[in-house]
Amino acid sequence: MERPVLIETSARHLHVDRKTLDILFGEGYELTPVKDLSQPGQFACAERVAVQCEKGGFPSVSILGPLRGATQVELSKTDARTAGIDIPIRESGDIAQSGKCLLTGPKGSVELATGVIAAKRHIHATPEDAKRYGLQDRQIVSVKVQTPERSLVFCDVVVRVSDKFRLAMHIDTDEANACGFTPGLIGEIIP
Ligand SMILES: [Zn+2]
Repeated sequence: MERPVLIETSARHLHVDRKTLDILFGEGYELTPVKDLSQPGQFACAERVAVQCEKGGFPSVSILGPLRGATQVELSKTDARTAGIDIPIRESGDIAQSGKCLLTGPKGSVELATGVIAAKRHIHATPEDAKRYGLQDRQIVSVKVQTPERSLVFCDVVVRVSDKFRLAMHIDTDEANACGFTPGLIGEIIP
């Protein structure tokens, strides 16, 4: 395989900003890391919140830390259908005119006027990875996935390059199910 990449799945989760955390969990509250994620400095937290949308919701969605500049909820398209909302496919952080919801934690609720998205599938790469693979930041590539019964090629995969990253591709649970994902799955980047 010429350009292998480890594929990882992101289940529904949210990132919170300081203000949202203060309202949901109390002034000055600090997140409790329970598990490091593959990207350096990113972690899953013990804290969970209810995400309520127009026609449905999820009672216990995990927060990923650290704090962000803006609160953002990432759902799959299947989740969005369940919750009765329409959400755009966006890169993380691009939340203008996305879905709305109500977040509820132990100390309060926050009405999110925008911020619910389905994450655009993406590859995190370091500058060294990018150089080795001949890739550029924001380049759109395809990734070929071979599994026993659901092999496929993911097109429209955006490459993000930063020295803060570690090489990995992130897909959501819909995409994972579509390709017969199992942990440790390696895809092949096709520029
Ligand atoms: Zn990612």
